Amino acid sequence: MRMDSMWSKVDLSAVGVGRQSGGALINALQAGEGLLMFLRWQAIYAMLTAAAGESGVALDSVDRRVVDVFASVSREVAIALRVAASTADRQAHLAVEAFERLPQVARLMRDGVISVAAFGEIVLQTTGVEDADMIAAVDATTAADLREFGGVSRKDASDVARRAVAELDPDGLRARREARGKGVTVSTDVDGADVLIATTVQDAAVIDASIDAVADSVCADDTRTRGIRRHDAAVALLTRSEFGCGCGNPECTATAPASVVADRFASVVVHVVADASTLSGESEKAGWLDGFGVLDAHHVREIAARSDAAIRPLDIAGLADRTARAGDPYRPTTACDTAVRAVFGSCSEPGCARPAWRCDLDHVCEFDHARPEAGGATCVCNLNPKCRYHHLCKTFGEGWVDDQIVDANGVIWTEVTAPSGYSVRSRARNQWLLPDLGLVPCRHGEPVARGTVETSTQPERSRTRTQAKHAYRMRIRSQRRFEQACAAAAHHAAFVEDGPPPF
Ligand SMILES: [Zn+2]
Ligand SMILES: [Zn+2]
Ligand SMILES: [Zn+2]
Repeated sequence: MRMDSMWSKVDLSAVGVGRQSGGALINALQAGEGLLMFLRWQAIYAMLTAAAGESGVALDSVDRRVVDVFASVSREVAIALRVAASTADRQAHLAVEAFERLPQVARLMRDGVISVAAFGEIVLQTTGVEDADMIAAVDATTAADLREFGGVSRKDASDVARRAVAELDPDGLRARREARGKGVTVSTDVDGADVLIATTVQDAAVIDASIDAVADSVCADDTRTRGIRRHDAAVALLTRSEFGCGCGNPECTATAPASVVADRFASVVVHVVADASTLSGESEKAGWLDGFGVLDAHHVREIAARSDAAIRPLDIAGLADRTARAGDPYRPTTACDTAVRAVFGSCSEPGCARPAWRCDLDHVCEFDHARPEAGGATCVCNLNPKCRYHHLCKTFGEGWVDDQIVDANGVIWTEVTAPSGYSVRSRARNQWLLPDLGLVPCRHGEPVARGTVETSTQPERSRTRTQAKHAYRMRIRSQRRFEQACAAAAHHAAFVEDGPPPF
């Protein structure tokens, strides 16, 4: 018997899908996937509830004790999806998560705010939380945070949930963290072998940075890929052998003797950002480890207590006086540099998880080297981290515009707009870590205010191509900001007229 899917006959234009194109269409289709998965889990959950009811057992006992009831449901799911029993079990598990433990987060998936994959990340982060009230609080906090987030990637979802767990269930998280094993395993297959080191996130970060420090010591003529160089560096470090440059030039001075390697190690830095109150033990506010993500407060204190830790206070208030280096308006001060990397946490491109301290700092509105006062400021409001790849995309991509906005509440937003006009706005990922940063007043003028930029649509011939592109971007940003300010004002007026929303 042949069964055609009914989906090919559904008129999706009724929900607007036919009228969109480009990024907007792709995003709308992803939202549809979230809705369909929600409905799938709802159906599986109904099967589980019915089976539990017939057997006279509570549903929370289904996936632990009543194997026969659960197995029957799981088997039907397996044949419907044509998957192995273990995959069907996983679906049943996610259905229970979506309807019992994380109902508010699941509704975000239904409504297209987060993807199915992001939901899976949140399940992973919250799986150890057992207390019913605790998981309800984690669910509510995570959902509330993500609803206001803007474009949410898997990593964003994971970080938001981890922070909720770290602050609401710090003892539980610490216990699970400490229970995790450490060890080194070597496994072999026919063609090679893997060495796996299970360790703490802070030691992993130090190992990672150390491998980079050695792997990057070669000269420009080295022919190996970065991956191979990192491998060669790691093996050399573990076997106390020499890591040489691969250029083949016998005169190359980049081949490092042990003393040079030791010097390089002294400069390996791993960044942790935390509140002073967390360090002193006055609060359980979470911290951030560059390249990993959210740390619970105890973990922060544990790392701060290491003999090799150096603690430097970050003077946020001082940013009101100076954000660029004296005599070099292009370079941010150390405090400004640190604050910007910390508040973004990673590359500012939605979905890119490249750690902030491995990114370039980009002037969103381009710095004007000839006339610094006319271009984008070297300031928190106009700087964000971009990985080398996305920095290149910005510099050479035609028709793309990226913008950064600090709203009236001091929340820092970035917005990237594709040539098609599709745009994604996202809150700075670690706004929670430095909530006051966006409230520090700027001392510079507003270079992108409406009316201060060239308004002719044709770039003038006297400008270089780059100047013209920068001017174009400034104009687009200015227009978009103006339109958004108008929309926000209209939205606000509507709220005032209609009274508060019904939630
Ligand atoms: Zn060389
Ligand atoms: Zn990136
Ligand atoms: Zn500023």
